[in-house]
Amino acid sequence: MQKTVFLFGMAFASIGVAHAAPPHVHGEAHLEITLEDKRLVMTLEAPLEVALGFERAPDTAEEKQKAAALTEQLRHPEQLFTLDPAAQCVFAATGIESPVLAEKHAGHAHEEHAHEDPHEDHEHAGRAHQAEEAHHDLRAQFQATCQKPEVLHGVDILLFKTFPRLSRLRAAFAGPKGQRAGELDARHPRFSW
Ligand SMILES: [Zn+2]
Repeated sequence: MQKTVFLFGMAFASIGVAHAAPPHVHGEAHLEITLEDKRLVMTLEAPLEVALGFERAPDTAEEKQKAAALTEQLRHPEQLFTLDPAAQCVFAATGIESPVLAEKHAGHAHEEHAHEDPHEDHEHAGRAHQAEEAHHDLRAQFQATCQKPEVLHGVDILLFKTFPRLSRLRAAFAGPKGQRAGELDARHPRFSW
């Protein structure tokens, strides 16, 4: 199974809305942002297709290199998001949750994540590489501590440059002054609240 760097879910308890996985639409990603005191949590969910161009376990050396590069990119959230500098936010650890990316740690390619999603079993019957036809998501959580959260009014999304396949990002924010939702694209990469 995938290795999760830390647990998800706690951040969403504060906004009182049960978190359901967004639909898997190629080219689209979702970003949930919560601000509580000085703690900012951003959870990105996207089809792996958006980030890698494929969604199965990397097979070739080139694909493995792409997956490794993606993991490295996600470890540098300051290159994916620009938070208002006046808020003095500093990113901490990134949590990455994706069975395909975790595979490189797992050792036994193709076996580890077979049947991870019971709803997809019917697609896999009899296949040697059972995950190859599945649609996999990337889930990454970025945390930052902001010294002046009261002047944090938005984020510029650099993901459109990082992931050219990303055409639309649906964003939601929840903080002390309420909630906000927005839809962003490469021409409108700033999400304000
Ligand atoms: Zn897909």
